[in-house]
Amino acid sequence: MKLQFDDATLAFRDEFLAWLEKNRPAAEEMETDPAVSSAHAPDWARRWARRMFDAGWLVPGWAPELGGRNAGAVETLVYLEALTEAGVPRTTNPQGLGIISPSILDYGRPDQVEEFAMPVLRGELTACLGMSEPDAGSDLANLKTAAVRDGDEWVLNGQKVWTSGAAYADFCFLFCRTDPDARKHRGISIILVPMDTPGLEVKPLKEIVHPDTPDLAEVFLDDVRVPIENLVGEENDGWRMANGSLAHERSMVWLDSVLAIERSMAGLLDHAKAWMPALTPAERALAADDVVRLYIETKALRALGYRGFARFVKGGNAPEQALMKAYSSETSRDLARIASEWNGTDALHTTSGRSNRRRAIGGIEGYFNTFGSTISAGSSEIQRNIIAERVLGLPRE
Ligand SMILES: Cc1cc2nc3c(=O)[nH]c(=O)nc-3n(C[C@H](O)[C@H](O)[C@H](O)COP(=O)(O)OP(=O)(O)OC[C@H]3O[C@@H](n4cnc5c(N)ncnc54)[C@H](O)[C@@H]3O)c2cc1C
Repeated sequence: MKLQFDDATLAFRDEFLAWLEKNRPAAEEMETDPAVSSAHAPDWARRWARRMFDAGWLVPGWAPELGGRNAGAVETLVYLEALTEAGVPRTTNPQGLGIISPSILDYGRPDQVEEFAMPVLRGELTACLGMSEPDAGSDLANLKTAAVRDGDEWVLNGQKVWTSGAAYADFCFLFCRTDPDARKHRGISIILVPMDTPGLEVKPLKEIVHPDTPDLAEVFLDDVRVPIENLVGEENDGWRMANGSLAHERSMVWLDSVLAIERSMAGLLDHAKAWMPALTPAERALAADDVVRLYIETKALRALGYRGFARFVKGGNAPEQALMKAYSSETSRDLARIASEWNGTDALHTTSGRSNRRRAIGGIEGYFNTFGSTISAGSSEIQRNIIAERVLGLPRE
C-alpha cells in the first residue's frame, strides 16, 4: 500500500501553490465583501473565477478552452485540498460551477454552451438549480411545473421551492413537465430560464441562520415565456439528465465535506484546550470522550473517502458515495452540536454573519446551519435507502 503522492503529483501541487500565492484573492477583500448567497458573486469572486479560468485552474480535469489543463483525478484531488487549506473558495456559485455548467456542456447545444455555461465558468453569470417543488423533493419525479409549447416559445407555470441563490442568480436550470400524460419519470424536461423574464417572481425564505441574507427562495412562474431554443437536450429526457447532473455534484463532494469537517475539528480542538481545564473532572471526562469520538469519526471519514476515490480512479463503482453523504453531513452536525453544547450559554452569543458562519465553531447558528446538508442533494433517509438496496442488496421497501 502506498500512502503518499508520487513526485509528478507533488510537482503539480507545488505549481498550483506557487500560482495560488501570487493570484489568490486577498483575505481582506473576501471578508469586506463576502458572498451573501450561493449565487452571489462579489467583484473579487468574478475576478477570481476569470483568473482561474484563464490559467487553467478552474476545473483542472477539463480541457484548457474550458478552464482546465487535462489533469487527472489524483491531481484534481490535491488541487482541491490545496485550495481548501489556503482558505480560498473555488467558487461562490457552487451549483453553477459544479452541476449546471457541466450539465450544459454534456447535454446542451453549442450556442447554449456559449450563452450560458461559458459565462458561468468565466465568472460573468451565476445560476440556480430549479428542481424541488412543494410536492417534489425526495420524489423529484412528482414535479408539476408545466411547460407548454406555444409557437416558438415555452410557456411556464408553476412553483419551485428551496431554490438556493434564486434571488441573485442570472438564470435557472429549471426542471419542468412537458408531457403531462407520460409516466411521471418520462415527461420531464430541462429549460434555461433567465431570472429577469416577466412573470417570474422570487420570494426569499427567511432563514433562522442568517435572516437578513436568506439563500433559499421560492420561485413562482406565471405565464413565463422563453424561446423554444432554451430546451436543454431532448424534450422529455429530463429524468436521465437529472441523474447525470447530480452525478456531477456527487463526484468530488465528499472531499469538500471531509475538508470542512477537518477544519471544524481543528477549531473544536483549539477551543477544547481553552475550556476543558475549567470543567469538573467528571465533565472533563465526558467532554474528552465526545472530542475523541469525533476525532476518530473525522479520521474514518477521510479513510472512507480515499477508499471510494481509489475505486473511482480505477474505474470501479464507489458505493461509498452514499455512505459519505450521510456520514459526513451527520458527523458535521454532531460536531457542531457538541461544540455548542460544551460552549454553554456562550453558544447563544455568537453573531456569526454569513461570511464566517461556516467557520464559527461552538455557536448555535453554526449548529443550525449543519442541518441543511443532511437534507439537500438527497436526505440522510434517502441515502440509507440507497445503501440498503444498492450497496447491501436488501429487499426494496
Ligand atoms: C440547504 C438546502 C439547499 C437546497 N438547495 C436546493 C436547490 O438549489 N435547488 C433545488 O431544487 N432544491 C434544493 N433543496 C431542496 C432539497 O433538494 C430537498 O429539500 C430534498 O430533496 C428533500 O425534499 P423535501 O424537502 O421536499 O422533503 P421530502 O422529500 O418531503 O421529505 C420529508 C422527509 O421524509 C423523508 N423521506 C422522503 N422520502 C422518503 C423515503 N422514500 N424513505 C424514507 N424517508 C423518506 C425525508 O428524508 C425527509 O426527512 C435544498 C435543500 C436544502 C436543505
